[in-house]
Amino acid sequence: MSILAIDQGTTGTRSVLYDSSGKIIADSYREINQIYPQEGWVEHDPVEIWKTVVDTAVELTAACRGEVTAIGITNQRETVIVWDKTTGHPICNAIVWQCRRTIGLCARYVDEAEMIAEKTGLPLDPYFSATKIRWILEHSSIENIENLLFGTVDSWLLWKLTGGEVHATDYTNASRTLLYNIREKKWDDDLLNVFDIPCSLLPDVRNPMDDFGTVESIGELRGVPIRAVAGDQQSALFGQCCFTEGEVKNTYGTGCFMVMNTGDRFIRSKNGLLTTLAIDAAGKPCYALEGSIFIGGAVIQWLRDEIGIIGNAAESEAIAGEVASNAGVYIVPAFTGLGAPHWHADAKGSIVGLTRGANKRHIVRAALESIAYQSYDVFLAMVTDTGVTPQSLIVDGGAVENGFLMQFQADMLGVAVHKPHNTESTSLGAAFLAGLKSGVWDSTEELLSLRHLQHSYEPAMDEERKLVYLEGWNRAVRQTLAG
Ligand code: ADP
Repeated sequence: MSILAIDQGTTGTRSVLYDSSGKIIADSYREINQIYPQEGWVEHDPVEIWKTVVDTAVELTAACRGEVTAIGITNQRETVIVWDKTTGHPICNAIVWQCRRTIGLCARYVDEAEMIAEKTGLPLDPYFSATKIRWILEHSSIENIENLLFGTVDSWLLWKLTGGEVHATDYTNASRTLLYNIREKKWDDDLLNVFDIPCSLLPDVRNPMDDFGTVESIGELRGVPIRAVAGDQQSALFGQCCFTEGEVKNTYGTGCFMVMNTGDRFIRSKNGLLTTLAIDAAGKPCYALEGSIFIGGAVIQWLRDEIGIIGNAAESEAIAGEVASNAGVYIVPAFTGLGAPHWHADAKGSIVGLTRGANKRHIVRAALESIAYQSYDVFLAMVTDTGVTPQSLIVDGGAVENGFLMQFQADMLGVAVHKPHNTESTSLGAAFLAGLKSGVWDSTEELLSLRHLQHSYEPAMDEERKLVYLEGWNRAVRQTLAG
């Protein structure tokens, strides 16, 4: 028995084959081209996305001799594809979540922003799907709109995998479109009216753990049932076994993504977080708060590529460990503005607190600390919004290999930071969902027993010292925003 998880991300597609003990049997990865037609615009070729899914999935099935029991899909969210259901061709490139081309379009709907936020939990922003769909409808030559279908990447892949049989999505992906009412859990007529989007375009919304049809278009996988669909962050939350209210995960990749399960509580954040749908223990929708940090591990890449004071990301750990403190040096890596909870789109980065004794080690340490402080700020926003202090933080992403960063994170948060063995939580979440639905696993208790922690970092810094660090960070942020 094995589960195939297809993780279609922004930079590429990874297919991962899991066995019934939750271990990776094999994986396969292909990059996808990033298309930048103009400044601030980002596109993908939907046909190329599909090809990378076929290539990676076929490579894996060739490598594995056993049967694939079921497939789970997880995907980059918000990215929009519109295709013609008679020809099967996309009518233009996918507009990627990062694309800012609809800033002007958003201005058209500002009077409705409060209504939109109340229904969707999201701010009116080009990031989400609705204005991207509107843009496509206004800039494409359309003969018969009835022939068109819209989907986020999951829907496109489902449609392709099932040979055009299934046009569906799941709650977590739908909750990122600005068209879906997350209180009533349905496509919302008011929102569709505001953005002037016909409902004939929309996919059917199902549970993340559900029946999404069977594969028709890939010979090697013909007949295999697709049993799960979830947006990448929600899939990672599930893969990290954050099934119940108050549990929270943080992904330390290029940026950082923190998500907290808030159970059946729809909470409108007063601290710059998004409200969204996640997945509970029964595979049904529950609420979550989400905060994104634009520059996480990317500040370490910047030290390596632009400043040249480290040779590779891993050596930042030893270098930071060579000094006993940050000596008052702080980096605020607002290279692309500051995200949650500050939300200053125009902020620029800064290094503050330099003295004659400051050296390269302090700068490297300050860069790593900045990842932990930003995550602390989002964590604090979650605690403030929910009134719940999580017992621990569970982590994944490339930068969790850095022991200094993880220990410093535990010290700042004052709660344990748990790092599991398998930090591929995104694909693991899709595999867990598909495996539960197809009977590979019986319960979330069983999933918990499959997850093994590699290391737990316990908070060890005394309170007084911690406050000095945090005050220094807050001062640095204030200076940065003032400048
Ligand atoms: P993404 O999925 O966003 O591409 P990954 O999860 O692969 O990101 O993580 C890559 C990021 O993690 C890079 O920004 C890199 O600088 C950072 N990183 C990787 N290893 C380390 C390390 N040992 N210490 C600090 N940062 C690291």
